[in-house]
Amino acid sequence: MKIGFIGLGNMGGPMARNLLKAGHQLTVSDLSQSAVAGLVEAGATAAASIAELARSDVEMIITMLPAAPHVKGVYLGEDGLLAHVAPHVRLIDSSTIDPMSARQVAEAAAARGNSLIDAPVSGGTGGATAGTLTFMVGGDKADFDAALPVLQAMGKNIVHCGPTGNGQVAKVANNMLLAITMIGTAEAMNLGVSLGMDPAVLAGIINTSSGRNWSSDTYNPYPGVMDNVPASRGYTGGFGTDLMLKDLGLATEAAKQARQPVILGGLAQQLYQTFSSQGNGALDFSAIIKLYNGAIK
Ligand code: NAD
Repeated sequence: MKIGFIGLGNMGGPMARNLLKAGHQLTVSDLSQSAVAGLVEAGATAAASIAELARSDVEMIITMLPAAPHVKGVYLGEDGLLAHVAPHVRLIDSSTIDPMSARQVAEAAAARGNSLIDAPVSGGTGGATAGTLTFMVGGDKADFDAALPVLQAMGKNIVHCGPTGNGQVAKVANNMLLAITMIGTAEAMNLGVSLGMDPAVLAGIINTSSGRNWSSDTYNPYPGVMDNVPASRGYTGGFGTDLMLKDLGLATEAAKQARQPVILGGLAQQLYQTFSSQGNGALDFSAIIKLYNGAIK
């Protein structure tokens, strides 16, 4: 298929490469010329602008941009996608943004005759490179079905979550819970160790008891408990504190718009805000345990 791809960063770059590997023809655009050059070397064609990409003969356009203002700019801007794209072209936004913005952009696309599905991902840069991302998709079932073969070239778990915006809803709800369970696990591990428990023995008890969760049994924040997790390599790699903070901001903003309480989500946001403001934004999000124990390196 002829596909346009906009946003070739840490996630979009490897996702676009997997589309090329699957035999799709790609036309790409990014503000970063070096990101574009990398994809051209891999076999893609560069578009001089978003307008040029929109006017080319692509059948589908995928965007993978940092945040809602970038998405709105690319789709709704004066010289943006919707101003130039032909009505039949299918649109997929894989950026993580708030559900309300996703619905607003999809409505603008629908008014021009274009279907736009939201398809945020989880799995990080490792999953983007390996082509094993999870896609949480919001939009009409027929549009989901049409996008499925393309998404399968970049991911392995592709779930239709309901109407437009619901992909983003699933993403923010899951990541808010992840932040809460990570903080809870860090708090419990630090308490137990400070009271004299061996961290590995304590993690073993939790992981065979009712406190078990993904942060305790797959991504334990206490150093030395597990191999191959950020806690065992100085909290490098993994999912950055500032990315978690961004997702918590989306969750609390969505909650405000829906007039729903997110008491623990709000607290988690403040804890990650505190940790980030102390200069830790680039550390993996499991490093939040350092807020409890400054001796942990
Ligand atoms: P990134 O900052 O590495 O890449 C974004 C790219 O978009 C950059 O190359 C930038 O130049 C480009 N861009 C920005 N504005 C543009 C414009 N107007 N026109 C064209 N290109 C433009 O970000 P990323 O890590 O690839 O993340 C992308 C999205 O995926 C974000 O919404 C993020 O929250 C989400 N996400 C990231 C991860 C992760 O681990 N990095 C995991 C899951 C989801």
